[in-house]
Amino acid sequence: MTDTYSTTHALNWYAEGSTQRPFAHLQGEIAVDVCVVGGGIAGCSAALHLAERGYQVAVLEAESIGYGASGRSGGQCLPGVSCGQTQLEKLLDPALARAAWDLTVEGLALQQQLMARHDIDCDWQAGHLQVCCHRRHERELHAELEHLQRRYDYHSLEWIDRSAIAEHVGSACYVSGALDRQAGHLHPLKYTQGLARAAVSAGATVYEGSRVLGRQRTARGWQLVTREGTVSCREVVLAGNATLGNWEPSLQRKILGVGTYMIATQSLSQERAQQLIPQNVAVSDMNWIIDYFRLSADRRLLFGGEVSYGGLYPAHYAGALRKRMQRVFPELSTTPITHHWGGWLDITVNRAPHFGRLEPGVYFVQGFSGHGLALAGIAGKLLAEAVAGTQERFDVFARLRHADFPGGPWLRRPALVFAMLWYRLRDSLGSLTS
Ligand SMILES: Cc1cc2nc3c(=O)[nH]c(=O)nc-3n(C[C@H](O)[C@H](O)[C@H](O)COP(=O)(O)OP(=O)(O)OC[C@H]3O[C@@H](n4cnc5c(N)ncnc54)[C@H](O)[C@@H]3O)c2cc1C
Repeated sequence: MTDTYSTTHALNWYAEGSTQRPFAHLQGEIAVDVCVVGGGIAGCSAALHLAERGYQVAVLEAESIGYGASGRSGGQCLPGVSCGQTQLEKLLDPALARAAWDLTVEGLALQQQLMARHDIDCDWQAGHLQVCCHRRHERELHAELEHLQRRYDYHSLEWIDRSAIAEHVGSACYVSGALDRQAGHLHPLKYTQGLARAAVSAGATVYEGSRVLGRQRTARGWQLVTREGTVSCREVVLAGNATLGNWEPSLQRKILGVGTYMIATQSLSQERAQQLIPQNVAVSDMNWIIDYFRLSADRRLLFGGEVSYGGLYPAHYAGALRKRMQRVFPELSTTPITHHWGGWLDITVNRAPHFGRLEPGVYFVQGFSGHGLALAGIAGKLLAEAVAGTQERFDVFARLRHADFPGGPWLRRPALVFAMLWYRLRDSLGSLTS
């Protein structure tokens, strides 16, 4: 998994031109109160919030800060969870489902606070538009909008009807949509690196190139082992997402690493950019295998979609994504693609996030299932609250029950590939059955 992962990073547009000074790798033995495994948004936010509470914190990152999903993502910051709120209501009682929704909305507000408080310049733009491809999508999205307004008092969503959709997205593929002005988009690598710097300013120590290989119990608590060092600590926060490794098999059984991809065009002219997405919002469609796109600060179209349930990074994905982009925006048929990259999603069986404790003093968050940009930040704050002894808000998500992926380590991928063929077919038949 790791080799193919490294080769794709070189083409990640976000990483190009990064001015972040590297952090040292761990050498020798150190002791802290809390050791955080993983330097993505969840791990950096946990480290920041713990350090602000006065804990001595070390972050161990296998590669570099933001190397995982956080530094490769579509940059779309949304409320809610991947499985959707109606599905979450089937998994939690009404009061907890409400608390979970409110926490995800708080996650968006927290992002704004963190950017302002720690002076994180990450190209934030307000606005996310969810678009409908056909009537079935329209019925579903409209019902969701009304449900969120009625049951959750969420009034940030504005219905964009057929007469107005062209004012927001210049594509004939979409018939209508819902615009959320509280949501938006940002440069996810700059944001993650900003969180790491804020954590360091608050007193945390960050180590890069320091992959954790195992965890063992000690008289004081826990010891985490890397190739060249060890960290002794009272508490552990596991935020390694899909690439944590097989030393925590009980976590690994609950998620499947799914490859997903992005392409970036060359910078577009002001007029062309304006024509594609006139109000510079982030856009995603309602298909099971979604297309999502937005403009970067230098006016590239960043277009994501496609998933590989084989867990690989086949070279043809850039071409497949390009075709999807051209279907949405035929005027880009000759525009050069300058970058393409992939990353791992950590999906759970029910697509709800997976938080909890493995043993006393060992906390984890994972399973954001492709919807973690805002949620991983608040997850870090909830982890810090839990370590400090206030468990209630962390437990809203920790109460969600999760099944193992069926089929065991060998059969689970083929089983999922089969299931996904059905969803792809459903997407392509969507317009016929609506
Ligand atoms: C291509 C792509 C597009 C996406 N687009 C969106 C989007 O538009 N909106 C959205 O909400 N979500 C999106 N997501 C999902 C979102 O990026 C993730 O849910 C979120 O970033 C997860 O953050 P994290 O901190 O949990 O994990 P990560 O960012 O993956 O961080 C985990 C870190 O742990 C490190 N690590 C792993 N194992 C070890 C170990 N053993 N020792 C030390 N370090 C370790 C990894 O190197 C990695 O840096 C996307 C994901 C991808 C891949």
